[in-house]
Amino acid sequence: MTTLLIKNIHTLVTMDEARREIRHGALLVRDNVIEQVGTTAELPDTADEIIDLQDKHIVLPGLVNTHHHFFQTLTRVTPAGQNGDLFQWLTAHYSLWHKLTAAGMYYSSQMAAAELILSGCTTASDHHYLFPNDCVLDEQIRAVAEIGLRFHSSRGSMSVGESQGGLPPDFLVENETDILKDSQRLIEQYHDNSRYSMLRIVLAPCSPFSVSQDLMKESAAMARSYPGVRLHTHLAETKGDVEYSLSKFNLIPGDYAESVGWLGDDVWHAHCVKLSDRAIVQFGQTGTGVAHCPCSNMRLASGIAPIRKMLNAKVPVGLGVDGAASNDATNLLHEARTAFLLARVRDESAAVMTARDALEIATRGGAKVLGRDDIGYLAPGMAADFIAINLDRPGFVGTQQDPVAALIYCQTDYVDYSFINGKKVVDRGKLTTVELAALQEKANDMARELVMK
Ligand code: ZN
Repeated sequence: MTTLLIKNIHTLVTMDEARREIRHGALLVRDNVIEQVGTTAELPDTADEIIDLQDKHIVLPGLVNTHHHFFQTLTRVTPAGQNGDLFQWLTAHYSLWHKLTAAGMYYSSQMAAAELILSGCTTASDHHYLFPNDCVLDEQIRAVAEIGLRFHSSRGSMSVGESQGGLPPDFLVENETDILKDSQRLIEQYHDNSRYSMLRIVLAPCSPFSVSQDLMKESAAMARSYPGVRLHTHLAETKGDVEYSLSKFNLIPGDYAESVGWLGDDVWHAHCVKLSDRAIVQFGQTGTGVAHCPCSNMRLASGIAPIRKMLNAKVPVGLGVDGAASNDATNLLHEARTAFLLARVRDESAAVMTARDALEIATRGGAKVLGRDDIGYLAPGMAADFIAINLDRPGFVGTQQDPVAALIYCQTDYVDYSFINGKKVVDRGKLTTVELAALQEKANDMARELVMK
């Protein structure tokens, strides 16, 4: 057993039930779990390791990313995909993604995880839905475990190609029997439903325009036969997406989700920009979650998701940076700020979202969406996942009256410390678990293989 004391925290943002913000705060951690939360004066002054933050840092729960496609890190700002909407953008990328290899999966996953961690993320979900060449989900699981990010890895899939009326080319889709067999293998090999789990498996057929209704139903049945295996997909992302569902299934997206059994507190959908008012109510009543991806929605000209309406209807909402080919920044702190600004633009009201609302969606919101009750806030018994941001930086000058709000109002790029499961993964702004320069070089090599060949 080892203990860690973080003391002289300028402001400790607990996000606990009372949403306490503690001046001169301190945290005592035993192994991977928070033992005590309070002021520096209240907590013991001894521990195996002590970090004195000298009244300069805000500490808050690690942020949670609920939607991503790590492999897309290799195809950012692709010229052919720069100025298209969702379907044009996807079509421009499929032939590049078809060249993805297991090594590409490994390095892109670790690169994306590195960016996420540096921008405050301590738990992420990835949605990987294509398996050309020697690709297997095991590669991203290994890459993420090595860097130390808490991870929900989605076994995604595409099974309806162009010849069957789907969007992806036939050469990128898989046979549904193989998809289900591999899904079961991954659950049985890796899924850990215990408290403080560092790895859970999610089943995630890609989208209404790339899988069959049968695969949606069978994936749901399989996930529900194992404790804690959740379901994830894309839904109601754009106008074109709604039109596809109407023409192919004669259903709008919310009704489509209901028709395949994809409403419930074990399901979360990415985007939901075009979700109907009736579906928002249904999502709230059933506890169906939403991964809000504001940067991607702007980048692909998809629209603005009605987040305030969803929150009012008690829909669990978390943040997602989405894939790095449609953001193209993998920065969760930026995403929180963008969500905050965009909610105000959408409703033409500054009252619809406060800075603390944005922090809440990024922490507790994401934890709820991923079905976790051991992360998202700082209290005794919770996982030791937290980040520290030094206020002594140019962009924070003049923010003394409310430095917590400054995290959102002012642009925060990177964190100074990050602890995940009690382990220090960022120390004074540097990753401790991987050599970043070497990783960047390898990821760039992998990217070159996709775009230059
Ligand atoms: Zn996505």
